[in-house]
Amino acid sequence: MTISLLAFDADDTLWHNESYFRFTEDRFCELLAPFAEADHLGERLLATERRNVDLYGYGAKGFMLSLIETALEITEHRVPGATLAEVLRLGKEILAQPVEVLDGVVETIESLGGSHRMIVITKGDLIHQESKAARSGLAEHFELVEVVSEKDEATYRRVFERVGVAPESVCMIGNSVKSDVLPALALGSYAVHVPYEITWAMERAERPDDHPRCAAITNLRELPAALSRWT
Ligand SMILES: [Mg+2]
Repeated sequence: MTISLLAFDADDTLWHNESYFRFTEDRFCELLAPFAEADHLGERLLATERRNVDLYGYGAKGFMLSLIETALEITEHRVPGATLAEVLRLGKEILAQPVEVLDGVVETIESLGGSHRMIVITKGDLIHQESKAARSGLAEHFELVEVVSEKDEATYRRVFERVGVAPESVCMIGNSVKSDVLPALALGSYAVHVPYEITWAMERAERPDDHPRCAAITNLRELPAALSRWT
């Protein structure tokens, strides 16, 4: 058994992401507080996002549209224009956030680059993800940064084929059991789960801890040790 290709998720695996969305959601709930309770707003927003994900895909721009739609619904279209302008401003703030690389990432990526081929597979808005990869300072370590609209078996099969590596020789590393771990395992690849401090409700799934090709670590620094179990 040889793992020759390491495929990394990006958001909340290489750099912070979800915390910006939750910060924005909290501001949104404050803005709309005169119209609805915060927990009720959170539920309504999640329902709107679930409804829209097939249309908008993942990322900050679809999130902004779902915020606006939720504001309109909650207020029965009476939300003030100034509030909608503030919602748009908050969304643009997500797009302009600096890229904060997570602890342990730089040293791990630098050390594993000598022994493995490495790529990034991420979903989200194309321009935002490309910009974050460029601004992270990490892009030079990866031979490919692939932005995809969904992370399922078919997507992973296509990307691994494109770089010419059999799924059995790939290890996918990411913070989402649903998007990074389960589809990679189903394809015959290895998977390492690195949970982030917050998991978006739509990414929650149970980790198959007894799976022989699945490992869990708490910091990317532990990745070389996790990989050595399989080689
Ligand atoms: Mg992620």
